[in-house]
Amino acid sequence: MQKIILLGPQGSGKSTQSQLMADTLGVTRISSSGLLKKVVAEGTELGKKIDDLMDQGSLIPDELMIDLFFGELDKDQYKDGFLLDGFPRNIVQAEALDKKHEISKVFNLEISDELAMERISGRRVCENRHVFHVDYKPPRQVGLCDLCASQLFQRDDDEPEAVSKRLKIYRETTAKLLDYYGKQDKLVIFDGSGSIEEVSQMILDYLNKHVG
Ligand SMILES: [Zn+2]
Repeated sequence: MQKIILLGPQGSGKSTQSQLMADTLGVTRISSSGLLKKVVAEGTELGKKIDDLMDQGSLIPDELMIDLFFGELDKDQYKDGFLLDGFPRNIVQAEALDKKHEISKVFNLEISDELAMERISGRRVCENRHVFHVDYKPPRQVGLCDLCASQLFQRDDDEPEAVSKRLKIYRETTAKLLDYYGKQDKLVIFDGSGSIEEVSQMILDYLNKHVG
């Protein structure tokens, strides 16, 4: 049974590739943002508390994240394995996870900060959340959505300053995780700088060869 963790900075194509990995391995994927959204949507006391924290832009405390993930992973759909995206986020969470689950492999989808910046800060969206990119996927008409003709704009989160702040935090915390799983001999690093198709192919080749 495969219990996989996927790491990678924003802009690495992690969400796209994580679904491919999960499908190939026959395991269920769960992302921290997906799980949080689900809990908030349930409208429980806990959901409301999380919603408030996210509204304030606060981090969800480690104990809460750990409880949420452990509760989720006890469900039937994860009995044949899982792929975690966005959890663990730090050493406290990683150590807690190790006490409960034997992790098989940790994949790190790596790209440079420069490329992450280029991919994220070039993003443009419309009010209906259709996504374009000034270089990789430009709209037919500058500034207008191909699909609904509304104005395209840059999300605050995608502005260079915000991206650079998030990347810095990501590098600081993830460096420790890479070290932690490297010492356990579980870390596999993929170069995420190619196109989506190229990276997918590389991952599939690896999985077919090494993980059966
Ligand atoms: Zn649109």
